[in-house]
Amino acid sequence: AKVQKMSAEVVDSNPYSRLMALQRMGIVKDYERIRNKTVAVVGVGGVGSVAAEMLTRCGVGRLLIYDYDKVELANMNRLFFRPEHCGMTKTDAARKTLQEINPDVEVESYTMNITTLKGFEAFKSSLLGPDGNSRVDLILSCVDNYEARITINQVCLELKQNWMESGVSEDAVSGHIQTLIPGVTACFQCVPPLVVASGIDERTLKREGVCAASLPTTMGIVAGLLVQAALKYMLDFGSVSGYLGYNSLKDHFPTMEIKPSEACVNSLCCQLQREEEARRNSAVAAAAAP
Ligand code: ATP
Repeated sequence: AKVQKMSAEVVDSNPYSRLMALQRMGIVKDYERIRNKTVAVVGVGGVGSVAAEMLTRCGVGRLLIYDYDKVELANMNRLFFRPEHCGMTKTDAARKTLQEINPDVEVESYTMNITTLKGFEAFKSSLLGPDGNSRVDLILSCVDNYEARITINQVCLELKQNWMESGVSEDAVSGHIQTLIPGVTACFQCVPPLVVASGIDERTLKREGVCAASLPTTMGIVAGLLVQAALKYMLDFGSVSGYLGYNSLKDHFPTMEIKPSEACVNSLCCQLQREEEARRNSAVAAAAAP
């Protein structure tokens, strides 16, 4: 009985044993594969910092984090950052905390604005491996503006890189995540977001002196949905919805699949759609051949 008690203590104190239990319970085939995964988190604010922490606690192999901003006292209504981080860049503060939580995770931090010409190139090249292809398994978009999302969309189309987008509404009570697979699902420009579809300039929504609402609850929930989808996608368990919404006022989680648009304004997206269709047609022809 004593031996049994000791081994239970060892199991309880090892953080990985509870993650490995996912494998023993038949949820995940080979959980250890997480060690070989590289995830880029773009924007380490209210959603991205929490997503990065979750991935760190799950034991992901490598994290690339991007942000241009510094931690301010105004960020304390969110999770993750603490008052002593004020004045540090979000990337430096996040890297420090993440490495303290789990030193096994390699954290690369990039303090940059991805939307400038130089930033775009630096962002894209930071994702490249020695073979010229993307070295990351997944990009998580946790930025809060249209321009940055368009930049991630363009880089992902150019690298044929799958990514997940997240967003929280200005009134802080709803959010969404979306999975984008170049040529297969809608890209970010195939179906314009509501603000653009209705012709409103996003900048006019953010009026001077009018503060957007923000709740750590909604941001934490959206981060949780995002990382859950990322784990399912990377470790092949369950199913990943094309779009998953969260309406906290009605406790409603709508899901849908978003098909790519043949009339997408992004010509690279249209080209990838045609390549995907050709691939599908030749697979059907090969299956039908005697
Ligand atoms: P708020 O705008 O509500 O005051 P915030 O700027 O911290 O807060 P969040 O929604 O919490 O916004 O997080 C979004 C994060 O994405 C921010 O940390 C922001 O600096 C980062 N971000 C936005 N655009 C870019 C960009 N072009 N390049 C790098 N990081 C970006």
